[in-house]
Amino acid sequence: MKIEIQPDDFGTLCVCALRYCHGRQTYMPHLVQRIVLEHWSELREPDKGVIREDQAYQRRFDPWGSDYDKEGWEEFYRRIADGEAKPTFVCDVCGAAFSVPDKHCYRENLDGEQGIETVWEYRCPHCGSEEIRAENE
Ligand SMILES: [Zn+2]
Repeated sequence: MKIEIQPDDFGTLCVCALRYCHGRQTYMPHLVQRIVLEHWSELREPDKGVIREDQAYQRRFDPWGSDYDKEGWEEFYRRIADGEAKPTFVCDVCGAAFSVPDKHCYRENLDGEQGIETVWEYRCPHCGSEEIRAENE
């Protein structure tokens, strides 16, 4: 199924979704960042401008709400500041090219130590494979 939406309306949804995500310490920031980056070239310039301004404001005054998602937001900020978001990853299993891999986080108890360790896994957003590689790196 393919859903059609007017570019203005899609831009509004992207702006609102990103605003919701700031400071959320869940899977949501990465998910919304991926969707926005995948459709970046389809967004209108006024919406891109709003998104860039929002990111710049958040970065300056409220550094992503916490350190938890800092890396992902910084990467997102860098990509939209560069202009067009281009695919930079390729899946070796299904061959898909994409801008941002799915990122899964889980926490492991450290044997014999206090605390837990956060572990990140990167996967193809299309087939779920971990066999992905960065291009041009
Ligand atoms: Zn794949």
